[in-house]
Amino acid sequence: MKKIITLLILSTVVLNIHCQEPEETESWSRIPAVVTPGTGTQPPSDAIMLYGGTGDLDNWVAEKKGAVKWIAEEFLTVVPKSGGIKTKKSFGDVQLHVEWRTPEVMKGDGQGRGNSGIFLMGKYELQVLDSYENKTYYNGQAGSIYKQHIPLVNACLPPGTWQAYDIIFTAPQFKEDGSLESPAYMTVIQNGILVQNHVELKGPTAFIGKPKYKSHPGKLPLMLQEHSNPVSYRNIWVREL
Ligand code: MG
Repeated sequence: MKKIITLLILSTVVLNIHCQEPEETESWSRIPAVVTPGTGTQPPSDAIMLYGGTGDLDNWVAEKKGAVKWIAEEFLTVVPKSGGIKTKKSFGDVQLHVEWRTPEVMKGDGQGRGNSGIFLMGKYELQVLDSYENKTYYNGQAGSIYKQHIPLVNACLPPGTWQAYDIIFTAPQFKEDGSLESPAYMTVIQNGILVQNHVELKGPTAFIGKPKYKSHPGKLPLMLQEHSNPVSYRNIWVREL
């Protein structure tokens, strides 16, 4: 009897599968927008070019106040002691492409060599550092989410070489009472190599103490750090997700 029931169930399942049409699992609910991929210094067609090497600082302001004092020529270069810079526009979830170069002439060591940083929403730092044969705490080297996540590998090129970060950032969400709804996530590809794989951020990256979330707007400016070292940037573009 048991055998007969099992056979009946099995044949019903088989019959059901055979009654289905392939079209039933096709989705026509959303047409993907056509985006022309970028080539070289040309970003994808739907990206916002934040610094394309034209010396144009229209998209940037000083982090604190006053005009941007960084050198804005073919590349954008940090002027030590001049403060960080941030975008005029605010962003939430993004795909971000940034090319950076630490000085060819090595000066200093550890955190003092080619230090800068890409602060998503001005709060969540993806470290920029000359980590080519330059030891520091691992969650503070290039490719780290500063003091939160050690990069999977060290994908650094020698100082003076242009390097690229491709970043996918999911902004944190907060409830109305200010408590955390969902944390921030980051994926980072450095020079074509995965260094952060959808890691969960524990809060804004902090120099001292444990990170802790505090409610903030859904979109905030992107910030580039001035850390006394003349690091250069170029070809910075962003796609809002
Ligand atoms: Mg830094």
